[in-house]
Amino acid sequence: MTAKKGFTTTILHSDRLNGTEYGAMHSPIHTSVAYGYDNVMDLVDVFQNRTKGYAYSRQGSPTVSALEHKVTQMEKGTSTIAFSTGMAAIAAIFTALIRKTDHVIASSYLFGNSRSIFSSFIEMGLDFTFVDATSVENVKAAMKDNTRMVFIETIANPATQVADMIKIGDLCEEKGLLYVVDNTMTSPYLFTPVDVKATHVVNALTKYIGGHGNALGGSVTDTGLYDYASFPNIYDVYKKGDSKTWGMSQLRKKGLRDAGGTLSPEAAHSLSVGSETLALRMERSTDNAMALANFFEAHPLIKKVYYPGVASHPQHELAGKLFKKYGSLMSIELDESVDWVKFLNKLKLVVKSSNLGDTRTLAIPVAQTIFSELGPEKRAEMGISDFMIRLSIGIEDIEDLLGDFSAALES
Ligand SMILES: *Cc1c(COP(=O)(O)O)cnc(C)c1O
Repeated sequence: MTAKKGFTTTILHSDRLNGTEYGAMHSPIHTSVAYGYDNVMDLVDVFQNRTKGYAYSRQGSPTVSALEHKVTQMEKGTSTIAFSTGMAAIAAIFTALIRKTDHVIASSYLFGNSRSIFSSFIEMGLDFTFVDATSVENVKAAMKDNTRMVFIETIANPATQVADMIKIGDLCEEKGLLYVVDNTMTSPYLFTPVDVKATHVVNALTKYIGGHGNALGGSVTDTGLYDYASFPNIYDVYKKGDSKTWGMSQLRKKGLRDAGGTLSPEAAHSLSVGSETLALRMERSTDNAMALANFFEAHPLIKKVYYPGVASHPQHELAGKLFKKYGSLMSIELDESVDWVKFLNKLKLVVKSSNLGDTRTLAIPVAQTIFSELGPEKRAEMGISDFMIRLSIGIEDIEDLLGDFSAALES
């Protein structure tokens, strides 16, 4: 593309400008498992990465490539690899780029399943330190000679802590570390982690990018900031061409191809269509979230509101500086006089469900569901009370949402 276009314009016209048949608006859903060649040397060239092309779709297909290209543009990155889920994307980064001699620093405020798979990695011998990433000092204090990666989320789920991302970025750059930022909660519309020097960006495409709760997917974007020339974990076969591309070459093979967390072309198409309205949906859902946060802050039966948009949030100022808006995920702590079961069951519009980033507003009691496996001690450590309700705010009309929550709190 020539002149830089706006966020939504770029996504809307991405497929077409990349060349589709018959002037189609969307990249077609290519369901072929394998791709055939008249000249066997063309197949050999694809296998050896000498030409771009497709061989066996576990490691890439045209429909998935079209989505990857969109995510790259949204994240202002250099390349993206899509996966079957956000978790597959996260797992692949570790299997592809981390070795047993490495140390990883991760935020202690993480998506529950990320925390869980990191526990599995620890059982397999990897060395992790979990830190309160809202201050870079904690990251500095955890550094070891063999620290290779820092892994954080932009806004943590469910208590909405915002990581000290600018300073952690400076630290990672100084020390030559991989800086992986899970951008799911903000989405590339509200924030692009490349701006805080992230080397890799994770997105659960399932959430805001797809946005409609109808397809699972995940991605890893390389921001182009990391030079793998002195990175010790790259196999010689992937040291081809520009050394800044080596990491993604290895991730596509050792992460995607070998573990097989491949995104289906059908899901890629759904996510791709969903992504066209990301900006519109984020504008609406974040406005709804702000209005609801103000409503809850003023309500006598709500003890606490966890939302970066409210002035009482510990990282309110930082969030305002980093993000276009404050996101559409919040948690509320009910007054102990409120029966959480009754409250949730009285909600008629808001759906009791574990997803987030859907167009519909969803609510879930945290301690009893998504963090139930952790047990009471770990939950207390993470500041999760038994009365915490997580809300993923959708794009409904705000009067209807306010009406539903008011009525449920009245009883
Ligand atoms: C949902 C989520 C994931 C995992 O994504 P899936 O597509 O459900 O596997 C990872 N990180 C964060 C922050 C999430 O919210």
